Amino acid sequence: MKKINCNIIRDILPLYLDDVVCDDTKELVEDHLNICDSCRMEAEILGQNIALPTNRNIKLSDAKVVKKLKNRLFRKKVVVSVISVVVSVAIVIGIYAYMSLTSSYIPYDSANIRIEDDNGELYVSYDGDHLAGTVIVHTEVTIDGEEKDAVIFSYYETLWSRYVEPLFNQSQEESGICGLGDKSEIDRIYYAEFDLDAYLDYCSYSAPTKEWDTEYMIERSEMIWSE
Ligand SMILES: [Zn+2]
Repeated sequence: MKKINCNIIRDILPLYLDDVVCDDTKELVEDHLNICDSCRMEAEILGQNIALPTNRNIKLSDAKVVKKLKNRLFRKKVVVSVISVVVSVAIVIGIYAYMSLTSSYIPYDSANIRIEDDNGELYVSYDGDHLAGTVIVHTEVTIDGEEKDAVIFSYYETLWSRYVEPLFNQSQEESGICGLGDKSEIDRIYYAEFDLDAYLDYCSYSAPTKEWDTEYMIERSEMIWSE
């Protein structure tokens, strides 16, 4: 008889501990727990496990912890967002800088690059694509012992002007017209078939300041106009 009672008691112990049983059952359980050590022990173990989450204070502090954790996570998210924006901007600037600084000269093409004379002023015009800029040098060359006034120039493109600008600017109407100077002061015009910009940079930054090596430049240029 006692054995059966223990099994029944253990079946209803959780309900008893949750305080959802009627008074008769409650009395029955309590009477049994008073005389049965093993069921009492079982009730204590179960009671400890169940008591924890129903404790009001613990619940409150749980909520605080969750809130704090949420705040911390939120702050972490904001920091991560700011960092990703900063990194993205830096990457875009880096790509732009790289693409706009990586230049190469546009090879001479008589169909696209023409010297024009406008009332004694010489101009050069460019009709091709991808133009980023112009480098122009006024210098003197010695030809058959005679000093001549020369203009050496070249058009250049950059990775940016070649690959990115066409995406935004479909018309590509930039004509690339540049004034070269008074016709009376120019004997020859050369088109540089090398990276003139890089060469001039090299000359200005090497110490002691290196004079332009006109011969070096002329050798790598094509004469496209002479008086
Ligand atoms: Zn029992």
